[in-house]
Amino acid sequence: MMEHPDIAGTEGGARRARERFAGSFTQQEPLPEASVAAALAVMGHGRLHRYNTIPGETAEAALLEEEFAAFTGARYCLAVASGGYALGCALRACGVAAAEPVLTNAFTLAPVPGAIAAAGGRAVFVEITGDLTLDFQDLEAKARETGARLLLLSHMRGHVCDMGRLMDLCRALGLTVIEDCAHTMGADWDGVPSGRHGAIGCYSTQTYKHMNSGEGGLIVTDDAGLAARMVLLSGSYMLYGAHPAAPGPEVFEGLRLDIPNVSGRMDNLRAAVLRPQIPLLPGRRLRWRALHDRLEAGLRHVPGLRLVARPGAEGFVPSSFQFLLPEWEPVRVTAFLAACAARGVELKWFGAEAPVAFTSRYQHWRYAGGQSCPRTDRILAGLVDMRLPLSFSEADADLIARIIRDEALRIGQAEHVAPVQAPRVQ
Ligand SMILES: *Cc1c(COP(=O)(O)O)cnc(C)c1O
Repeated sequence: MMEHPDIAGTEGGARRARERFAGSFTQQEPLPEASVAAALAVMGHGRLHRYNTIPGETAEAALLEEEFAAFTGARYCLAVASGGYALGCALRACGVAAAEPVLTNAFTLAPVPGAIAAAGGRAVFVEITGDLTLDFQDLEAKARETGARLLLLSHMRGHVCDMGRLMDLCRALGLTVIEDCAHTMGADWDGVPSGRHGAIGCYSTQTYKHMNSGEGGLIVTDDAGLAARMVLLSGSYMLYGAHPAAPGPEVFEGLRLDIPNVSGRMDNLRAAVLRPQIPLLPGRRLRWRALHDRLEAGLRHVPGLRLVARPGAEGFVPSSFQFLLPEWEPVRVTAFLAACAARGVELKWFGAEAPVAFTSRYQHWRYAGGQSCPRTDRILAGLVDMRLPLSFSEADADLIARIIRDEALRIGQAEHVAPVQAPRVQ
């Protein structure tokens, strides 16, 4: 690791230079040239709608579905308008009834309870553990209490629970599992790709996720009935024959007049942009892991700061980074966030009173009804979150870790901390 000349040997001292990070936490890499070329080709011929093809042509959206099915090892795949749409489509395909309880993580992002509400269900929040994954004891208790038959499992921020134990428990409880893989595309548990443990896996191709098409979603399943329902729901009219990654027409025969069209297709332009990114996912995973490991190394053994444990079976793709400041008073956390922001490090806090930008927590989703998850509250009160775009270098990760470490030591150990306004971050 390269030491910054200004701080060598003076760490923690009064002469410590104020290193500053100048990168952007919201700047992703440009799209690969192959994506740009493919997008130009689609724009050049103008057939952007997935069912607008000429004889002998397979639409980009259909090819994307075949390729993503192969990437995940799934039998069927459907490309849709967004990750949130994918979740809602999966829930509808599972036949969510009005006000039916749907179990989901208390720590997740707003589109997850939003998808449950849009499908007419009622989100029931399940506690999380200190490792940011689902609390199995609370899952069992709430499953029994509500009689729920569906779990919308959010691999929030890419933290994957013990999928072997979870699936055993869900089988015992009669729960069908839909996986929200918005943060785990290309990840695995014990070698099985994320999204392939439950009945349905849903992914997002929104700009801040693992492949970038601005907006977009992908769904995989091995279940022919669910796949056919989702194709019909997505707005396939009677053109489901144009889905090579869907089941045969016989599966659609019995369903096509009973499933509403809840329009949410993906177009050929986005699909064209995504196809060349699939083979890049394993390389991106390695680069994300390298950035993550540098941050972790730089933040190990900082008093008052806890890193999140990652089990050996978890093949994670850290497109973001989390750490905990357990038991810190809110005034100290906000002072810490402001100090990091002043040095160019944009951190988000899940303990804030009011939702900020992408960061909100379950109490902020008032439509889901007042629910209480006290263990999750305690964890989120100290949970700090950071985007990790691949436009960062490993030296950037080292610098960011030095700044966080420096401020965590300074503010964590200060006797008195003056209240500051929480920084506004994107
Ligand atoms: C982004 C995200 C989604 C939804 O994806 P969109 O493509 O933005 O609709 C769902 N779940 C989680 C955890 C996400 O971060």
